[in-house]
Amino acid sequence: MRTLESLGELAGKTVIVRSDLNVPLKDGVITDDGRIRAAAVTVSELRDKGARVVVCSHLGRPGGEVKPEFSLRPVAERFGEIIGSPVAFVSESVGEAADQAIQALNNGEVLLLENLRFNPQETSKDETERQAFAAELSKHTDFVVLDGFGVVHRSQASVTELAKARPSVAGRLVAAEVDVLEKLTVDAEKPYVVVLGGSKVSDKLGVIDHLLERVDKLVIGGGMLFTFLAAQGHSVASSLLESDQIPNCQKYLERAKELGVELLLPVDVVVAEKFAPDAAHETVAADKIAESRFGEAGIGLDIGPESAKKFAETISGAKTVFWNGPMGVFEMPAFAHGTREVAEALTRVSGLSVVGGGDSAAAVRQLGFKDDQFGHISTGGGASLEFLEGKTLPGLEVLR
Ligand code: ADP
Ligand code: MG
Repeated sequence: MRTLESLGELAGKTVIVRSDLNVPLKDGVITDDGRIRAAAVTVSELRDKGARVVVCSHLGRPGGEVKPEFSLRPVAERFGEIIGSPVAFVSESVGEAADQAIQALNNGEVLLLENLRFNPQETSKDETERQAFAAELSKHTDFVVLDGFGVVHRSQASVTELAKARPSVAGRLVAAEVDVLEKLTVDAEKPYVVVLGGSKVSDKLGVIDHLLERVDKLVIGGGMLFTFLAAQGHSVASSLLESDQIPNCQKYLERAKELGVELLLPVDVVVAEKFAPDAAHETVAADKIAESRFGEAGIGLDIGPESAKKFAETISGAKTVFWNGPMGVFEMPAFAHGTREVAEALTRVSGLSVVGGGDSAAAVRQLGFKDDQFGHISTGGGASLEFLEGKTLPGLEVLR
């Protein structure tokens, strides 16, 4: 994959960087700036090399219309604080104002364009429309840097077409992500443990399928554990269940056995009366969920303490760990214990520990862990999962 080195002298060159600045916002305030910090590495390097840096990104799903609540303006300010020099902002991504702002840049200055998805061409199904948008975006630039790992699995104008419009390379973030994800798919150091959780088993089947032959142990928690328990014939009361996936879970339980992969499911579960932060709850054995004092109304919202301990031991003894998906509804403090224990165990891994997935990354930060306590925190949830499913990612293909 081509990287920044192959661009040669950058002083005075105008470089457009496709970042992923899709940060969570609440009433116009950024609630987690992890993605901005991740994007800052490439942008500061380009700035320091004297390039004129144009940054572009999407934010949320405005659906091809200008919607002020999805403006990137608040991101420009925070970006400037993070890189320690001002980041100018222009309230469109293409057009006269954008052209003028780009041409007004001096060496080492940074400009952020407005949300790409305010323009319907960005995500158009029509390739010529996407090409036209990419041509506009790159009109006054010399090079393209793809650094939004969160979007490399998308065929969108600012990804595939933009990369074809000018000489293009991977930014530091994309290069680092690919480097780590390759370590998880090719010759990972053993013992190799994969921990999966989160809400839906159907989202994670592809990963289970691709990684099952590569791992020593597969640990399952989160909402998806209930479909596995159901596949073993246990009742899960009112817990999250994807009935149509029961046969698939049965298939993976069997394949794990054939491959000699240890598949760890919780031995105990925290069952709540209802889905609420203050809900009454109790810990029961994983095969006795329907026998909690809440009966058929009981909802499993976290793995139990014994399971958390067992999972943590398994994780901390590994040389390679990939974790995707919270162990419980960590957003509610009463049901965050399992996720906290698993995160804690990852910080003790002596080899490579990787956290992937938007909610998982948010969970470790919300629980007070620091990014540098982990080997790597992947910024692109969907993209990292697709990579680990063995899929071809269009935004990486164009850079090879
Ligand atoms: P990621 O974004 O890291 O890939 P997911 O999107 O798959 O993770 O899942 C995250 C969500 O899963 C969280 O919002 C969490 O509340 C939810 N979750 C975890 N355990 C349960 C559970 N037992 N029941 C319902 N939801 C759960
Ligand atoms: Mg998610």
